[in-house]
Amino acid sequence: MNIDFAITCGSKILSSKLINTARLDSEILMSKTMNKDRSYIIINSKNIINKYDLKNFYMLIKQRSLGKPIAYLTNKKFFWDSEFLVSNHTLIPRPDTELVVENALKITEKKNKINILDIGIGSGCILLSILKERKNFYGTGIDISKKCLNISKMNAKNLKVSSRLKLYKSNVDKFNLGKYDLIVSNPPYIKKYKIKNLERDVAAFEPKLALDGGLDGLSEIRKVIKKSSELIKKNGKFILEIGFDQKNKVINILNKEGFYINSVEKDLANNDRCIVSTKI
Ligand code: GLN
Repeated sequence: MNIDFAITCGSKILSSKLINTARLDSEILMSKTMNKDRSYIIINSKNIINKYDLKNFYMLIKQRSLGKPIAYLTNKKFFWDSEFLVSNHTLIPRPDTELVVENALKITEKKNKINILDIGIGSGCILLSILKERKNFYGTGIDISKKCLNISKMNAKNLKVSSRLKLYKSNVDKFNLGKYDLIVSNPPYIKKYKIKNLERDVAAFEPKLALDGGLDGLSEIRKVIKKSSELIKKNGKFILEIGFDQKNKVINILNKEGFYINSVEKDLANNDRCIVSTKI
């Protein structure tokens, strides 16, 4: 069997399971199987695929057909300007979250040597993207998950920002180290009982720890805001990702904790997705 035929078979299996990026996913999983990039796979599509590779390829197709996200099958996801290592312990970086990076870069254009804290660093996509762009900024990342911290550490090494990064395994409530010019966070903010209604790939495969915002979706956001208010410098900036329907409630909490709202930014689907604020 040649590569092209195997990809077509894989794609048909995925289509039959209602995966709408079937052909693309099949090609990506073939690249993963052969350990070559997608263009190699396409250029060499008439090459014969050996039995061993074919078996591995079908194993990947099987997992994808059950809904496992491509990023967890390839262990990587492109975000902002870099490829990030991910595992099923980290949330998969989303294009919407690039808003946090974009705004962080916008408000720090003229800054030098500032200290940034990322609460719930996960794969590291937010903080490490900022550190990669701003060569004299320093970052601290905390996460409750040691497995996420290990992934962040590897990503920091790949992006060559390790020397400017400190990582701590900590619960948001218990962390009390340092004072920060900028705090960023994409905490879990989905209502507990709504997780099951998310897309199947998300609901069944992404870590609940990174999604579950408690009964009202705001329990982690509240903790993050409270902690940020303690750890941020006066006039420091705070950029928080929120759920599409949380703007008013979160603004209220921010105001009570002494933050002035600079802007509420909309994501690609025109939903309110991140709040930029200043500690006064
Ligand atoms: N944006 C993610 C989703 O809708 C949720 C991320 C989060 O809870 N921080 O799947």
